[in-house]
Amino acid sequence: MKVALLREGGLALEELPRPTAGPGEIVVRLAACGVCGTDLEKLRGNYRTAGRLGHEPVGVVDEVGEGVRSPKVGERVFVHHHVPCYTCAVCRRGDHTFCASYARTNLDPGGFSEYFRVPEENVRKGAVLPIPPTISWAEGALLEPAACALTALRRVGFTAGDTVFVLGLGPVGLLYARLARALGAGWVGGADLSRARRTAAERGGVETAVDARDAEGVVGAVTGATGGDGVDLAVVATGAPAAVTLGARLPRRGGTLNLFGLPEPGSRLDVDLQQLYLRGLRVIPTYATTEPDVADVRALVTSGRLRLEDLVTHREPLERVAEAFRIASRPEEALKVVVTGPAFDDGA
Ligand SMILES: [Zn+2]
Ligand SMILES: [Zn+2]
Repeated sequence: MKVALLREGGLALEELPRPTAGPGEIVVRLAACGVCGTDLEKLRGNYRTAGRLGHEPVGVVDEVGEGVRSPKVGERVFVHHHVPCYTCAVCRRGDHTFCASYARTNLDPGGFSEYFRVPEENVRKGAVLPIPPTISWAEGALLEPAACALTALRRVGFTAGDTVFVLGLGPVGLLYARLARALGAGWVGGADLSRARRTAAERGGVETAVDARDAEGVVGAVTGATGGDGVDLAVVATGAPAAVTLGARLPRRGGTLNLFGLPEPGSRLDVDLQQLYLRGLRVIPTYATTEPDVADVRALVTSGRLRLEDLVTHREPLERVAEAFRIASRPEEALKVVVTGPAFDDGA
């Protein structure tokens, strides 16, 4: 079978034997897997915590190991690559994605593979979620990033009516904006360097999208929309430190700055600490997601409250995975790029 792996020299398309399902495990035939910004960062060498590529996969269950009652062979599923322990102090406080054992499990050999094995722990803890036929494969590949946004909105204490500003309108920033909208945000603005992304944002969920180079324009848009107060929630959906600096100027007194994008290792915060202190900002990093939030996003998509399909601008077969990564790294060309596998033609 074909698989895309992260090698010393970069991205490599290799032939490996198809994995088999041991006790409690399953093997999934890939339909689609989104290219995430973190996959791009791994290729650039900026993110070393996990060496595997592809964590947004959907597909068809091809084999179940001994003792697996659910899912069944032939079922359409989304598979989550990491699972928290659900028992440690971190998990008990609800911060599941910061659990020390969260990233211990992973898909073998990764999400950009014709077939992949799902560890017993993931199967047992509910990380394999059936997806109804009403959710297309492309939409299915967006469940994980959309769920990351839901995890973030929950962690920061978002409530309906809140005003939101998203810095960075890439696929995940747009998902965040759209989800905030679906959950009743009072106003959603955003900023990005890319004109194409600003246009896409204004077509789908963002009321005002400003050029991120124009810091005073960004502050002005927020001031104008909030009667001078600032937003309830500013979201930094990029790893750029300059966006954090700008983002810290946007919340109202007592408001929240959500660090949502992955910064490069060693990045430093350049923020006026006295302002932070006197304005009482809550600075809250959020990372990744867990099964219950994926299930809730699935329900939002099924009910039609959250639209995802139009965010997928490119579908590339696994053989062209290098091309998929190239396209995904060009903001003027693409929003979400999805790599398709052998089960893609099986339905929707
Ligand atoms: Zn991702
Ligand atoms: Zn835990």
